[in-house]
Amino acid sequence: MSGYELRAQHRPADPLEGGEHVRWHVVRQGSATALCGRYFPLVGDVRPVTEVHAVTPACRCGECWDRLAALEEVWAEGSPREPDP
Ligand SMILES: [Zn+2]
Repeated sequence: MSGYELRAQHRPADPLEGGEHVRWHVVRQGSATALCGRYFPLVGDVRPVTEVHAVTPACRCGECWDRLAALEEVWAEGSPREPDP
């Protein structure tokens, strides 16, 4: 489960959404493209992918987590091949 990291997308404060202003996406290390296809500059906060389950659901990018779950199934099967995006 290496080669990926979590990258924060900082959003403008929105009083309707409460206090959560960061959404976490899953990106390949060194890449600016998240699994959901969004593009990020290589700045901002990052966390190791091992913390993926520690991110509160409200702060997750659903598409990234769905894709990561699919990748984890492949990894669990021991296949070196990753599904095409
Ligand atoms: Zn995402």
